[in-house]
Amino acid sequence: MHQSLICSRTGQEFPIDRLQNLSFVGKPLLAQYGLDAIRNTFTPSAVRARSDRSMWRFWEVLPVSSPDQAISLGEGGTPLLRCHRRGTFQPFEQLFIKDESLNPTGSFKARGMSAAITRAVALGAQAVALPSAGNAAGAAASYAARAGIGCYLFMPEDTPPANIVESVVGGAHVFLVNGLISDCGKLVRQGCERFGWFDLSTLKEPFRLEGKKTMGYELAFDLVDALEPHRPVQERKLQLPDVIFYPTGGGTGLIGMWKAFDEMEQLGWIGSERPHMVVVQAEGCAPIVRAYRAGADSAELFPNAQTVAAGLRVPAAVGDFLMLDVLRASNGIAVTVSDVDLLQGVDELATQQGVYACPEGGAVWAACRQLATQGWLSPHERIVLFNTGSGLKYNHLFPVGDLPRLDHQDPRCLDNIID
Ligand SMILES: *Cc1c(COP(=O)(O)O)cnc(C)c1O
Repeated sequence: MHQSLICSRTGQEFPIDRLQNLSFVGKPLLAQYGLDAIRNTFTPSAVRARSDRSMWRFWEVLPVSSPDQAISLGEGGTPLLRCHRRGTFQPFEQLFIKDESLNPTGSFKARGMSAAITRAVALGAQAVALPSAGNAAGAAASYAARAGIGCYLFMPEDTPPANIVESVVGGAHVFLVNGLISDCGKLVRQGCERFGWFDLSTLKEPFRLEGKKTMGYELAFDLVDALEPHRPVQERKLQLPDVIFYPTGGGTGLIGMWKAFDEMEQLGWIGSERPHMVVVQAEGCAPIVRAYRAGADSAELFPNAQTVAAGLRVPAAVGDFLMLDVLRASNGIAVTVSDVDLLQGVDELATQQGVYACPEGGAVWAACRQLATQGWLSPHERIVLFNTGSGLKYNHLFPVGDLPRLDHQDPRCLDNIID
């Protein structure tokens, strides 16, 4: 359970016993924990001994005072898959995919919504509202249903059909807006004032970040388990990879994981070494890449944002300065990939590794190849790609065309198949 909330810009403290959105200067609030007090009980071996496989096995650094308070559908505990060295993956010796598509509702948005709705309900919220152009909507609908509260979703008309359907089926009040995600955000703000809903927009409340930070905790266990499977479990020392590729929209997971690494160091779980963080955005919506290249400490609105990767279509992010801090502190890099390349990435992940990734996952693989070609990273390094969601939500991007038809009553119908 957190002890305080502080403004990420000014450090000003805010009360934890009521619903909170942004700080007085309009910046995200960050939860702080009394880590010294739990150092002796919250240890890697204590966590390993827990039967709960969900992200709530890390409940001491989440907004609950006991794990049974969580509004959970079993989120987290996703696999870290080692990539087989074949085809375009051949050069990479230690390449892994953290496959977030296995989460409830098919994306890592489940982690954030589980934490945020858990805390919102504990503080008395009866309805939540948010803008979404993709997976956040379905996750919010499911966790609100699980909690028994109302959910109001504002989505651009061109949101992928699967995201709209899952939200409606989940019982949310869904509104399609003839504008961009930023226009939806405005309606949410107005609706929250008028109807008393709690605003769950990304980084505008403190706990979606807390849910997503658990990816950072899990990774430290997953990696040593993958690299040293023959060593007795209690002797495995937590480790982080050399490079992490993150498909970046609002940046919640990027900022969250970085926070998790700091917490783990304070807890004595890891040392001061950190992975290089790679921000991957689409060519058609790359505000953070642009700001990073300009050496700026905040990002300007990216005009006419366009990409098939709905999770990356975030033209302005409240956490911009935090992402740029992480990039510089980690000696990382920010890169773009085209929609053609990210869809090619989806194809290669599906056919060569068996992972039907979302376009955002395709984007990180495309970026990884690009940076290896340019010599920015070496194929010997321990690299983790985040596949943040399931390709199944994006079936509309992959029309299968005319498939061969067979007449099962024709005894020769298999004759033309060459195996
Ligand atoms: C939301 C989303 C992202 C971006 O996540 P942030 O942490 O907000 O940057 C990436 N991929 C998918 C599939 C998403 O749904």
